[in-house]
Amino acid sequence: MGVIPLLPLFHKFNKSYFNNSLVIDLEPIVKVRWSDNRLKTTAGFYKRSKANGYISSEIVLSKPILEYLPLRDIQSTLCHEMIHAWTDRILKINEIHGINFVNKMNEINTKQDSFKVTIRHNFPVFRKELKYKGICRHCDSTYMYRRRMKNIACKSCCNLFFNGIWNEKCLIVFEN
Ligand SMILES: [Zn+2]
Ligand SMILES: [Zn+2]
Repeated sequence: MGVIPLLPLFHKFNKSYFNNSLVIDLEPIVKVRWSDNRLKTTAGFYKRSKANGYISSEIVLSKPILEYLPLRDIQSTLCHEMIHAWTDRILKINEIHGINFVNKMNEINTKQDSFKVTIRHNFPVFRKELKYKGICRHCDSTYMYRRRMKNIACKSCCNLFFNGIWNEKCLIVFEN
């Protein structure tokens, strides 16, 4: 479908499913944008942050995951994240996919049938390969990682010999 403008969709959903609550004085209370090319682990997310006592929140949709998928996948992901924004900012309830989320999701799914909101975003996501091999210099166990890690210690050695506390003696060293 490509990187279509998200704001018109946001306004349409806000009106149809959220009783206009996500817009105050014509301003969306949550920013909506496409990610850059790096967001490859999730189709979208909602995030709230607080700086200088001022709350701001945003919805980010993954460009690399959604850009070649049909419109209904973009709609369903945006709507999913809008439910998070609504429970957080309007209901002011701290839940992820709890009862309020599920009720709203079901309500939206009964009201229309051009897309379906789901709890999980079931789109193919790219996971990096486990291609880095680390070795515990204490017990010689090997572990595979998606990237080279700094200052991590062997969990089994820490548990067995160091009361579960990080110890330099069992640092994981990378050979590649
Ligand atoms: Zn969610
Ligand atoms: Zn070890």
